[in-house]
Amino acid sequence: MTEKLYYSDSHLAVFPARVLSCEAAKGGFAVVLDHTAFFPEGGGQSADTGALGPVRVLDVQERGGEVVHLCDAPLPVGAELEGRLDFEQRLRRMQNHSGEHIVSGLVHRRFGFDNVGFHMGSDCMTLDFSGELSWEELQDLERRANELVRENLPIRAWFPSEEELASLDYRSKKELTQAVRLVQIPGVDLCACCAPHVSRTGEIGAVKILDSQRHRGGVRVSVICGMDALALFSAWQESITEISRLLSAKRGEVAPAVRRVLLEQQQTRERCDALSMALVERLAAGCASTEGHLVLFDSLLDEIAQRELVNRLMEKCGGLAAVFCGSDEAGWRYIIGSRALDLRKLSGVVNEAIRGRGGGKPQMITGRAAASRLEIEAGINGLIV
Ligand SMILES: [Zn+2]
Repeated sequence: MTEKLYYSDSHLAVFPARVLSCEAAKGGFAVVLDHTAFFPEGGGQSADTGALGPVRVLDVQERGGEVVHLCDAPLPVGAELEGRLDFEQRLRRMQNHSGEHIVSGLVHRRFGFDNVGFHMGSDCMTLDFSGELSWEELQDLERRANELVRENLPIRAWFPSEEELASLDYRSKKELTQAVRLVQIPGVDLCACCAPHVSRTGEIGAVKILDSQRHRGGVRVSVICGMDALALFSAWQESITEISRLLSAKRGEVAPAVRRVLLEQQQTRERCDALSMALVERLAAGCASTEGHLVLFDSLLDEIAQRELVNRLMEKCGGLAAVFCGSDEAGWRYIIGSRALDLRKLSGVVNEAIRGRGGGKPQMITGRAAASRLEIEAGINGLIV
């Protein structure tokens, strides 16, 4: 059975090893060593990656007590080589995972809720708890978690004897069948866990609760720790700096600045609507009443104003009241109404006259026309209905 160096030293990043076996496997070559510092996926923590001599370690899984390294190329059996972890990635995961134990331990001790789901994603962790926590309670937990980071408490991980285990009260997600490994943060948490952890809470650096949402009768909390928290801060800093530059507001004052922009936008929209309606009045007033068709073109009207203009023109003509918005280049959006004619029946003839597509109700049809303004004018005015 492979000796698991990550159990005794979570900070071992480089180690000498001997290749015991190497076999072709799905996606590469399965390599077993006499001992390893590569942590196989487990306990919610992803597998380590890194290098074994000249080859890359892509994935690590535990199978029947053996740690199997999936490598991108074969290695000769018996070879003595150096294993090298992608240690920054491992450290980031340990910071997050140890931070998770602190938060889950605090929640368990203060509220009695269990951690019933744990996912370590690429951007943050999600922790599911069996009861609801308010945002104020979560902020208080975050403050306490960071105090514990500053206290730089030792984190102990060990395999207790059966007698010792029976005497201890520890958190555990499932009934464990293998030898139980415990991870202890004194006064905070005692939890069964197979993953490597930082040595002292100070190494976690920072614990940041990002948000929470109700989830299956409890709460799902997003948390980020350590270097990942710093990286997220940098990404958000970049984003907020850009926003503050665009709004000419200080970084801490972008919210009121955005509110101001939204208010201005609403006022502009209201003014624009009022101007549109004034334009509709003028355009309608400029048309003399007729028993024939009325055709108007405009490039500014939105659909609501266009419809309103058609309504006004319908009062003034016995034939088609047609308003086209757009341009010869972009094409024309049309609304055509009539007091007297059944446009649903006529839509085929109308569309043919203006190279259009569209339809609607007997009183009004809408659509788009591909013909030019001159062609449309001639087409509509040439319709005898
Ligand atoms: Zn754990």
